Amino acid sequence: MLEHYFAILKREKLSNNLISKRVAVEVGNLSSLPQEKLWQLHKEGMEIYRKFQRKRAYPESSQVSLFDLKLELAHRILENCHFCERRCGANRKGGELGVCGVGSTSFYSTEFLHMGEEPELIPSHTIFFSGCTFKCCYCQNWDIAIHPKAGRRVNPHYLAGVITLSHLQGSRNVNFVGGNPDPHLWTILQIIKDVSINIPMIWNSNMYTSREALELLDGIIDLYLGDFRYGNDQCAEKYSQVKNYFSLVSRNFKIAYEQADVILRHLVLPGHLECCTKPIMEWVSQNIPKVYFNLMFQYYPCYRASLYPEINRRLTFEEREKALEMAKKYNIGIR
Ligand code: SF4
Repeated sequence: MLEHYFAILKREKLSNNLISKRVAVEVGNLSSLPQEKLWQLHKEGMEIYRKFQRKRAYPESSQVSLFDLKLELAHRILENCHFCERRCGANRKGGELGVCGVGSTSFYSTEFLHMGEEPELIPSHTIFFSGCTFKCCYCQNWDIAIHPKAGRRVNPHYLAGVITLSHLQGSRNVNFVGGNPDPHLWTILQIIKDVSINIPMIWNSNMYTSREALELLDGIIDLYLGDFRYGNDQCAEKYSQVKNYFSLVSRNFKIAYEQADVILRHLVLPGHLECCTKPIMEWVSQNIPKVYFNLMFQYYPCYRASLYPEINRRLTFEEREKALEMAKKYNIGIR
């Protein structure tokens, strides 16, 4: 479990982004090429990347790299935004805003060495980006999730320096979170571009990420720290205002599981054991049975949860017990 992650920590492997930076793309000027051509080059580049990753034999640096190509594609997506499955199509480069409200410039509220993540991850250098693609009525980070301009404007070069410094101070990874990191993909790639140390990169997301964004993250991210919140679309629409939740998020967990290490977080909601916890465990047992499953009981009602009386409370002892029994029944190796 988390083999790739620990191999990087032990200096036995390079983090994925460092390999992508070394895979050459045979092309002159990326910005002059049509998007279809860029995706074609990306496909070819990823095949070479996978060979290097398998063999653990890495090339030297290149003029134009697979990483540069990913950066260019992410920049193009900003013109017709589909970083997440809301697929607003907003021209963020041209000043339009989509549902998340994040523009072409990203803001972050804070960054620090987080000691409250899973034991394997701490100290985790966590960077909290402002704005979110969900509208969860019980959001615990609502102050930054609903204010896309909360905090400081991102200076990628500066943050890359802070990442390096934090590593010297003991960070084991870089943890991109929010809000949600998905709308910030282009900015985050710019930050990673300037990071040259061998450190695992973590995508800490609600997993409503678009397929295209996941393709760009392939070869960049070493570990997905993903929320699987709802076992059906109705609950997702009611509490987070998103559509087609279950099929999209389960699809994304399968993709993430193929690409990198995964920690799946399930926050148990009061009164939602049968409709949410159970279908998620059932799906996991059938599709990604060996995943690191973090069953979380720390829900507390905040933000607008009082508007929904059924979730305006903490979990009962019986609900915790029942969730643990379910995990046993579905053979989920919870952490
Ligand atoms: S990241 Fe924001 S603008 Fe882009 S598709 Fe998602 S909600 Fe819309």
